[in-house]
Amino acid sequence: MVSAETLQTLHRIHIQISELRSRLERGPRVVAIAEKSVQTFTTAREQAKEELKRARMKSDEKQLQLRQREARVEDLRTKLNGCASNREFQTLKEQIAADEQANSVLEDEILESLDGIDQIVQQVAERDQQVNNAQRELEDVRNRVANERDGLQGELSRVEAELQQVEATLPGDFRAEYKRIANARGEESLAPVEGEFCGGCNQKLNPQMMNELMLSKPVFCKSCGVLLYVPEES
Ligand SMILES: [Zn+2]
Repeated sequence: MVSAETLQTLHRIHIQISELRSRLERGPRVVAIAEKSVQTFTTAREQAKEELKRARMKSDEKQLQLRQREARVEDLRTKLNGCASNREFQTLKEQIAADEQANSVLEDEILESLDGIDQIVQQVAERDQQVNNAQRELEDVRNRVANERDGLQGELSRVEAELQQVEATLPGDFRAEYKRIANARGEESLAPVEGEFCGGCNQKLNPQMMNELMLSKPVFCKSCGVLLYVPEES
């Protein structure tokens, strides 16, 4: 004989245990998501920093190139005075004009590259902010999960102790059978009878099963194997 009340209590405790365990498992997953977010933003920031480095190098190269070309133009100018022929003078003049034209293009490119650098600097600052925000969020999540975990673990221990107490009241021969299914299925080891149907699989129960349930005999659903009980409100 096992009372419906005892079975219902067992079911309630199993449901509580599963819920507490799933909440305990959710914590590390939430932390992992926040960690991933920090990682993603950090990678984006490193990429922006790399881009900035490359842009600065390229800009520095152009500026060096410009200084070299300007020096060459100066050099050509000093040579103008020493020209032996008009033709040589003209050739030098043309070369100087061409070089100055090229330098002017280079100057524009340098200005453009400096604008680009300003934008990337801005991007790096934004990425920095995102990393900081994500790190703060991660810290919050870690604290929250740690606090919750303590509470949930305390609650779980309490409910598990309650389960043992109730299980200890089960008749010995039935207890082994119950433990086998409880260990394998947890909260899905028991189900209430709903009308004349199994609450686990919705299979109709035969009159003999209904009769045995009324007599407080342990009845397992022939279809899904759950231990059935008549819930209090029925
Ligand atoms: Zn069933």
